[in-house]
Amino acid sequence: MNFSVENRPKFIAKAASEHFDLLIIGGGITGAGIALDAVARGLKVCLVEKGDFASGTSSKSTKLIHGGLRYLKQFEFALVKEVGQERTLLHNLAPHIVVPEKMILPLIKGGSLGKTMTSIGLYIYDFLAEVEDLDKRRMLNKEETLAIEPLLRDQKLLGGSIYAEYRTDDARLTIEVVKSAYSRGANLINYMECTSMIEEDGKLTGARCLDHTSQKEVIIRAGTIVNATGPWVDEVRMQTHPIKGKRLYLTKGVHLVIPKSKLPIKHSIYFDVGHDKRMIFTIPRLDTTYIGTTDTYYEEDKDDIEISLADITYLLNAVNQTFDIDPISPKDIVASWAGLRPLIYEDGKSASEISRKDEIFVADNGLISIAGGKLTGYRKMAERVVDRVLLEDTLLQGTHCTTDEIYLTDPHFDNHQECMQYRVRLEQKCREKGLKEVNAPYLLQNYGPLAMSLIEDIADDMDMSAEEQLIWNELKFCHNNELIVSPCDYLIRRSGRLYFIPDSINMAEYLTLRYFSELLGVDEAFIDSEKKKWDEIMKGSGSQ
Ligand code: FAD
Repeated sequence: MNFSVENRPKFIAKAASEHFDLLIIGGGITGAGIALDAVARGLKVCLVEKGDFASGTSSKSTKLIHGGLRYLKQFEFALVKEVGQERTLLHNLAPHIVVPEKMILPLIKGGSLGKTMTSIGLYIYDFLAEVEDLDKRRMLNKEETLAIEPLLRDQKLLGGSIYAEYRTDDARLTIEVVKSAYSRGANLINYMECTSMIEEDGKLTGARCLDHTSQKEVIIRAGTIVNATGPWVDEVRMQTHPIKGKRLYLTKGVHLVIPKSKLPIKHSIYFDVGHDKRMIFTIPRLDTTYIGTTDTYYEEDKDDIEISLADITYLLNAVNQTFDIDPISPKDIVASWAGLRPLIYEDGKSASEISRKDEIFVADNGLISIAGGKLTGYRKMAERVVDRVLLEDTLLQGTHCTTDEIYLTDPHFDNHQECMQYRVRLEQKCREKGLKEVNAPYLLQNYGPLAMSLIEDIADDMDMSAEEQLIWNELKFCHNNELIVSPCDYLIRRSGRLYFIPDSINMAEYLTLRYFSELLGVDEAFIDSEKKKWDEIMKGSGSQ
């Protein structure tokens, strides 16, 4: 059965009529990872997500699969080792989604990084992550650093280093994990919010959920419930009882996107300039470069995170001080996003000092909540949660996590080399079809081995240009395979066009609304309300 909106009523009927071993609340990377691990071990799994999959923090990160170099400063060796090693594993499971990326770390006068400490730190970082010799960190003098990245301001530069990381697309990673869980039998439903829990004799037995597309209530019964709601973990914990013990501490992280022409760096750069010695990334991607991030305590509306002028000024000042470019101003911003880190409160520590470790809380009524952690560590977090769930299950006890062997896409690339060879063929095909150059890397990172199938039938057409036909084909693909319910699901999370191909966004919006009315048969009221929602998003993201 296709993972499509037409079949969504069947997913809901199944959720309402069957009994599950495990109900997961939250469809970010954590919930998706748990669903995949659990279904692969033989559990009967249902997952509900109140918005779209990855609509929370899991589409608003820095989009790196990284070991977290700065956690070495906090002596978090175990965390750095675990996530460092996960990078290579995830790359092997999906080489087009988790892509090697060399990172430049410039050493700057007055910065917090000294040459010796940086060299030792990166050595330990590579050692913990078991980085192969060829990819190990290299220290650079000033001239070598400038030769690699000429836009760095040379008056302030002392030297630098180059080391190995990986980049990803967080929302695509999440949807691929969701699809992988679905293909193994998990029942996953977006736009379905858990509103309260059902407790019998002191134990949870199910949850009441609200279907946001019909406004109808659905009761889902399950042996165990896992709360994987990221920044909303405490709200969901409070649906059953007042919170005992540890709580969340949320910090806001903002990213700004500017056209590549405004900051045409060749590599990702990780630098410190701020008076608070925080580190900032600048990362080139498709037609853009993005800058992030801030890290400030947050206690306002989690569903509507505003980007303040102070956030913008902080990031742009840092970039303008570090690079020898025409100063970037707020009017250059073409898109932006803000996310919340669901950290676990620690007495007396500031936002950037709090550990990024994950932790599992188990309530007396059996609710298992998972908080903290990183995108990069999602697979190991899921393993720990499912191990905990199985402590209560005598039948499946002793089963082991197998997600280290599950490719994230079907079909899949066997290795990086195969992925790169495919890219060359894709570039050629894009040229033949009259598509812009940016489409080859764009299609590869989003659709992997299926990318070619999205352009094969593009032909000279009186009604639609090649670029329009491509968007139309993507819509068909996402509609049939990726449970898009709202135009935003495609425009923001499945395609990433809003952020990384901003020039195409007006055309994409027009075609998406047309697709929804012509092929999904939605009514005018739906289109009007989606259009209003979209206009608000465009205003908030700096695209208008
Ligand atoms: P979320 O993605 O927030 O998912 C929780 C989901 O639960 C949401 O989709 C929400 O809608 C849903 N939900 C809430 N309440 C309910 C309910 N009642 N019923 C149903 N559903 C509900 N990590 C890295 O490894 N690399 C990075 O580069 C990186 N950069 C980051 C940068 C920033 C600015 C931030 C904020 C985080 C970054 N992280 C990074 C951390 C990483 O993004 C998060 O750890 C991860 O995305 C959290 O995923 P999650 O699934 O736990 O939470």
